[in-house]
Amino acid sequence: MPEGPSVRKFQLLTSPFVGQVVAKVGGSSRKLSVNDLNALRLQDSQVHGKNLYLAFVAAEGPVGPTAQETALQGEAACGAHCPAQDGAPHPHSQDEELQEAQHSKSEAPEAAEGQGNWLRIHFGMFGSVRANEFSRASRANKRGDWKDPVPRLVLHFESGGFLVFYNCRMLWCSSPRADPASDILSVEFHRGRALRALCAPEPVCYTLLNQRYFSGLGNIIKNEILYLARIHPLTPGSLLARSDLERLLDCAVQFSSEWLHNKLRGHGLHPQVYQKEQCPQGHPLMKGTFGPLGGFKRLTWWCPQCQPEVLPGDGDPSPVTE
Ligand SMILES: [Zn+2]
Repeated sequence: MPEGPSVRKFQLLTSPFVGQVVAKVGGSSRKLSVNDLNALRLQDSQVHGKNLYLAFVAAEGPVGPTAQETALQGEAACGAHCPAQDGAPHPHSQDEELQEAQHSKSEAPEAAEGQGNWLRIHFGMFGSVRANEFSRASRANKRGDWKDPVPRLVLHFESGGFLVFYNCRMLWCSSPRADPASDILSVEFHRGRALRALCAPEPVCYTLLNQRYFSGLGNIIKNEILYLARIHPLTPGSLLARSDLERLLDCAVQFSSEWLHNKLRGHGLHPQVYQKEQCPQGHPLMKGTFGPLGGFKRLTWWCPQCQPEVLPGDGDPSPVTE
């Protein structure tokens, strides 16, 4: 599923429409009664971790855009014209896609919340948002047809512009489930809390995917930053020196922000190890499926030479108080 930087770009695409009234709706969503959105005003748009939240209210008379919205329009417009493909490089293995689907299910426990004026949008593996354009088939399917992806939701606004949502699940909720302190792309990201989480005796590759501490951090970011920080994915955080953990955090924040920045300029991601055979130094990579016992397992790539295994008693890690 799209990671934090992709969802943040989606949010920037929606922000020019904040303040506008929905004039017409379309889309194939069966979970959501799309016609309920007719004549509502898009009031707010927020991103939290990997979820996009749109607030709708009953429309009553025109409202001009705020200064902040106007400022955002410039940025979003850049995103809107980017021809580049979003996010993850293809192709993903069937397995991983299946796991993603199962994971998304378990990640959305608030299905029972039901009503509210916030529409929570959770993206699937090929989820995306487009502004004023539809996604076109980039290749023929198995039967040789060039079939364009079917949008889940299309929102036409009174201005004539429109937003299209693909491969996502939508649910009404009462408020965004937000904790900016755990969002790696938020200025309020709480380093101290993230650092404490990383110190756990668990393999660091498990902790990094824990959305409670690293909201927005997904499997691509995990693989890339462990390589950048030269840390073996299965190293228990408790065996790492404080300086290593600090470096890993720096990599997480920097990599995610750069990914977002590149995305907004229409540049793709060039992973160094994710789904690769060799690291940039030319060493053959290892691949394994790692995850906590009884938890979600994810494919992990690492270089045994650049990311050597740390064994208990190795080196001199920071004093661990237990
Ligand atoms: Zn290497």
